[in-house]
Amino acid sequence: MHIYIHIPFCVRKCRYCAFYSIGYDSGIAKEFVNSLFREIEMMAIILRNRNNFYDNDTLNTLYIGGGTPSILEPALIGEIVRAIQQNFGIDKFDEFTIEANPESVSRQKVDRYIEFSANRMSIGVQSLDDRQLKFLGRIHNSEQALDAIKSARAAGIRNISLDFIYGSPNFDVKSFLPTLERTIAFGIEHISLYSLTVEPNTPLENDVRKHLIVLPTTDEVGEQYYAIAEYLDSQGFAEYEVSNFAKAKHRCKHNLAYWHRQKYLGLGPSAHSFDGEYRWANTKSVERYISAFSRKYIPLNNKIFGDDFAKMLADLKLPIDFIEKLTPVQEISEIVMLGLRLDEGFYIEKLGDYAEKIIEAAKELLVHKILTFDGEKIWLNRKQKLLADGVAAKILRQVN
Ligand code: SF4
Repeated sequence: MHIYIHIPFCVRKCRYCAFYSIGYDSGIAKEFVNSLFREIEMMAIILRNRNNFYDNDTLNTLYIGGGTPSILEPALIGEIVRAIQQNFGIDKFDEFTIEANPESVSRQKVDRYIEFSANRMSIGVQSLDDRQLKFLGRIHNSEQALDAIKSARAAGIRNISLDFIYGSPNFDVKSFLPTLERTIAFGIEHISLYSLTVEPNTPLENDVRKHLIVLPTTDEVGEQYYAIAEYLDSQGFAEYEVSNFAKAKHRCKHNLAYWHRQKYLGLGPSAHSFDGEYRWANTKSVERYISAFSRKYIPLNNKIFGDDFAKMLADLKLPIDFIEKLTPVQEISEIVMLGLRLDEGFYIEKLGDYAEKIIEAAKELLVHKILTFDGEKIWLNRKQKLLADGVAAKILRQVN
């Protein structure tokens, strides 16, 4: 099982953020957790009866993300983990990540997370330059970021991932590399590197539209990425996915499940799920989520478990925004798009009847050494990593 839980609360919205979250309120947080228990119970029964969810691989991963999971009382995190273990019959997670923001991390909290069996932390450092942090609208400063890393390490977390943002105005690779050096010195195992992206309906988009902010050009951002990637490579971090770098044996197993198109269950508002056939997403509203799970439910008996999964979820009035059954072309598109983001690429045998068409569509890119094909799989060459989405689109245009 790969399970993701979305904790939809933050102290304040960051300038660039498009993830779903609302301001923290302890009363709403309690109601949310009660609804989450209900969702966990129901989905465990539904998926057990659906009989196709538990066969994907032998790993169990749990990822508590958000939002800001570290904003919740640790005891609530513990109750959520217990509910998952009991309802899904999981004794032990191979990987259990909890996301945390520096201002809400303390040694005591991390001690509790470890008690609940967390073995990986992802900390939203973003920068160690206080002016950059302010620009991004983050509420922590560089000192708090370093303290958070120290707390996680001192408590005994042996798998720490740090998030960083590049590509913002005034971002300078020369001054960023010492930041990486300082944090890597703690023995960090994983780095996620995101370029500042202008997402719709964010304060950043508003400021860019009004020309209050000028972002670096695509070429400049590309140069920044490759310079940082080269540095991380020299420090023993493998670039195993666009934006993700890991020391040996520390690739994120949970995220790899997404990129390998394994089944996963997302719980909480805005969380996405995939069962190998259907993709669906929960509502992006804490209110709708809570009210849906406060209703009296149709009992989950045999009558409800028909062949039409989408209809069953609709009949149960679960708070789902969309659900779709993937067509063969959508499946192939996902294999190509997600595979090209990975260092290993995508395997030809997974393409079935589309294999020849895809190889033909990739021919020109193979000649120009943008892609490599070893007879088994096709992958994007390292210096072209940022072209992953464009290259996938070019190939798929010829297949659709
Ligand atoms: S802390 Fe993370 S989830 Fe919350 S607003 Fe900032 S970027 Fe978004």
